[in-house]
Amino acid sequence: QSKLEGKNRYTLFNPKTEIEITAFNNRINALSDAIDNNELVFHYQPKVDVISGRIHSAEALVRWQHPEVGIRYPGSFLDATENIGLSLKLDTWALETAFETASAWRQAGLEVPISVNIDPRNLTSNWLYDTLKGLLAKYDSIAPSLLDIEVLENATAVGNASVALAIKQCQELGVSFSIDDFGTGYSTLTHLRHLPADHVKIDQTFVRAAIDTLDDLAIVDAVLGLAGALNREVIAEGVETKAHQNLLISLGTTILQGYSIARPLPYGTFLDWTETFSPDPDWSLLQHLSKR
Ligand code: C2E
Ligand code: MG
Ligand code: MG
Ligand code: MG
Repeated sequence: QSKLEGKNRYTLFNPKTEIEITAFNNRINALSDAIDNNELVFHYQPKVDVISGRIHSAEALVRWQHPEVGIRYPGSFLDATENIGLSLKLDTWALETAFETASAWRQAGLEVPISVNIDPRNLTSNWLYDTLKGLLAKYDSIAPSLLDIEVLENATAVGNASVALAIKQCQELGVSFSIDDFGTGYSTLTHLRHLPADHVKIDQTFVRAAIDTLDDLAIVDAVLGLAGALNREVIAEGVETKAHQNLLISLGTTILQGYSIARPLPYGTFLDWTETFSPDPDWSLLQHLSKR
């Protein structure tokens, strides 16, 4: 598997024969039914800010609680969202669920922004703007800054003016944007200048490889330098071990996400985690070593 494909990247299904087409349609119908039957849930993975020592936000990651096979991960079913109607249905479910969660957290005394992964193909119309506007009106106690939208880098590349426009419109509502899996798309570092993103998530393949491969270390360092100069907040994802944490913080990363902090957690477990969370004392120590 090539590094650029990324460990968590699902491949879109491209059916050719009649049997394949039937199988694909079955997968589309199954996921669509799963949404209708409330079989999808989010697990929440925290991102922590090592400077403030606080929880920065939480990424909502979809899981399918299949009545027969148990928990299924996005890599095993998201290929069906190649179907654009289903993609829109999933993303609608995701935004509604995120607002419901934000509202429930608020009642539990927790105010942590939620990041939702949105298919970039759904950013070429007014759909996201209209949906966010509607949900913000419905949940009027939820501040727009409690919502963050993660979009993959490739589709947000320069040239796609409609995507950039959609992002800007939603930012005007007060919702923030993160460029996901940065470094794996086809744009170059300098394209970041044209991306209207608040946060840049360095792809986990670089984050993990930086520990023993100098080329990857150089990429992480370059992203940090450029994003810093352009005033974008950098998030490192896939921070699996304490050694990764140490390296990233000393390079100047301030926001970390990965198994070494917490795995994606079911709703209740996440709430418990936020209550027991305390910053690692090493974080402030390491920042003094940072060159940034
Ligand atoms: P992503 O947005 O880049 O999410 C990060 C993935 O890395 C998640 O996989 C997460 O569980 C995993 N991860 C987090 N920390 C670590 C770590 O330290 N080590 C390793 N090895 N992995 C880590 P997951 O949940 O399987 O999701 C895979 C992809 O599916 C996501 O990649 C995202 O592109 C997509 N996805 C997930 N939920 C949704 C959703 O609700 N809607 C849409 N449209 N896409 C989603
Ligand atoms: Mg990914
Ligand atoms: Mg993401
Ligand atoms: Mg990612």
